[in-house]
Amino acid sequence: MVSEKINEIINEQINKEFYSGYLYLSMSAHLHELGLFGFSKWLKIQAKEEVEHGLKLLDYLLERNSYVTLKQIRTPDFEFKDVKSVFETLYSHEKCITNAVMNIAKLAEEECDRKTLTFIEWFIEEQVEEEQQVKDIIKRLELFGENTASLYLMDKELGSREE
Ligand code: FE
Ligand code: CA
Repeated sequence: MVSEKINEIINEQINKEFYSGYLYLSMSAHLHELGLFGFSKWLKIQAKEEVEHGLKLLDYLLERNSYVTLKQIRTPDFEFKDVKSVFETLYSHEKCITNAVMNIAKLAEEECDRKTLTFIEWFIEEQVEEEQQVKDIIKRLELFGENTASLYLMDKELGSREE
C-alpha cells in the first residue's frame, strides 16, 4: 500500500488528468464548430492521451492495493479569443500539471517511497513533452500569423497526427 498522503495526491492527480481530457475535448469541439478539423482532431487525440494518463495512475493505485476515489470533474472553462489563445490556455494548464506531478515526486521523496518515485518519473518526462508540443504550436502561430493561409496549412499539418 502507498501512504495515505500519497494515495490522496494520486487520486487528485487522476482527477486532474481526466479534467485535462475534458479541457482538450471542449476545445476540440469548439474548433470543430469553427471548421478547423485538423486542430480539432489533434486536440481530441490529446484528450484520449489524458484519459490514458488518468488510467495509468488508477492502475498504479490498484497495483499497490490502495484506494481509488474518483472525484467530481469540474466543467472545463476557457475563453476563446483566437486559436493562439486556446494553446496559450493549454500551455499554462500544462505548466500547472507539471507542477502537480513534481509535487507528487517531492512527497514520494519525503516519504522515501522509491516505488512511487520511479513510477512518477514517466509523468515528469511526459510533461516535458506536453509543454514542448503546445509551445511549438504557439511559436508557429506567432511566426506565421493567424491568417487564413497559415491556419489552413497548420490545420492540415495537425490533422495528420496519428493516434
Ligand atoms: Fe496528462
Ligand atoms: Ca503526450
